[in-house]
Amino acid sequence: MKIHFYGASQEVTGSCFLLENKQAKFLIDCGLWQCARLCERQNHDPFPFNPKEIEAVFVTHSHIDHIGRIPKLVKDGFQGKIYSTEPTRDLSKIMLEDSQSLMKREAEEQKIAPLYKMEDVKKALTLWKSAEYGEKIAFPDFEFRFLEAGHILGSAMVEVLHGGKKVVFTGDLGNKSSDLLKPPEKIQDANFLIADSLYGDSLHEGVSERKIKLERVIEDTMNKKGVLMIPAFSLERTQELLFEINNLIERGRVPRFPAFIDSPLAIKALDVYKQHSRYFNLDVKSQMKIDDIFNFSGLTLTPSVEESKKINDVPSPKIILAGSGMSEGGRILFHEERYLSDPNSTLLIVSYQAVGSLGRRLKEGIKKIVIHGKIIDVRARIESISGFSAHADYNELFEFIEQAKDNLEKVFLIHSEPRASFFLAQLIRDNLGREVVIPKYGDVFEI
Ligand SMILES: [Zn+2]
Repeated sequence: MKIHFYGASQEVTGSCFLLENKQAKFLIDCGLWQCARLCERQNHDPFPFNPKEIEAVFVTHSHIDHIGRIPKLVKDGFQGKIYSTEPTRDLSKIMLEDSQSLMKREAEEQKIAPLYKMEDVKKALTLWKSAEYGEKIAFPDFEFRFLEAGHILGSAMVEVLHGGKKVVFTGDLGNKSSDLLKPPEKIQDANFLIADSLYGDSLHEGVSERKIKLERVIEDTMNKKGVLMIPAFSLERTQELLFEINNLIERGRVPRFPAFIDSPLAIKALDVYKQHSRYFNLDVKSQMKIDDIFNFSGLTLTPSVEESKKINDVPSPKIILAGSGMSEGGRILFHEERYLSDPNSTLLIVSYQAVGSLGRRLKEGIKKIVIHGKIIDVRARIESISGFSAHADYNELFEFIEQAKDNLEKVFLIHSEPRASFFLAQLIRDNLGREVVIPKYGDVFEI
């Protein structure tokens, strides 16, 4: 069998891997490249394989850098099946619809054709089948299974059996201290691992540290009668935080105050989370018997623009969770425009902030910014918590690979900037004595 690396190779986004033997071809993920202009063009390039010849696509999870080119694949002739877990299928629907409407708007502004149309999204969804974790999906010579990856709801590793060898694609590997999800499954008998290495060179705060920090930031801001703004990714981060805040309030750790989820996409994703609560970890499931884990008195969901605008009329203190996670557009900007100049308010950063993003600049302490053409003096407190990351840090990545070491012949490190991959690769070589490869786009390996 051959593995071709067609994305997320020495880069974070664009996850796409082709498996082939003489009879069949399969894809693991078919994601969008998300970065500067160059990447946007790259998304429009023809696939380096014939989509008509792909038998099936196995999807690790519903982040757009793992699913965002599936409708293009369909548009270009793919007619096979798409497999994922049930939550991934349902979350992919809302993520792809949302991203198509954004693409459409941008394409109209730039007077170019969008990457694909809503009809391609709809067609992709008709080809989409769901499978349980552990269920075997068999093709001649190949057998596939999804395993829990603990990254976001429904996220999976893909295990592939072929010619007596076991290959595991981790997809994005979760932070095992997620409050809602089960931890990633342990892999013990893989011969080849194609593994996440996003945080291959950094560590997150621990669970207790992040809880204490969140409690302190809420308390301080509420005492000062300020506004706590939390820019959060719509999928997973918002739901994790909402659950955490629910617990702090209902256990009397912080006072009650008005709180708002001001993101249409996060609200839709929240519905999917509620529908698939059987995928949560055991502690959460037992708490659900006595508590609505995503609701507390004072919480308002504001899907429409009118409802969102009314948040302004609610006197402080209050807390607002809104997208986008890096303050690069979305409703959070309207709140930042209004409250970043207020010394009693706080901006709490809980997500990865790409270099150059407004969120990154705020995190680095910039004192003057421009939002919607208006110059704003930043007087609010800027705080950050790294422990809510949905990704494993280097300790967890190393432990995950270490426990698989017995049968392991080779590790391929992906989904990362080269720096983090090289750091983790050295750690694996020095401590486990296994061969590590950091493939680049277009590399192909026979295994
Ligand atoms: Zn992801």
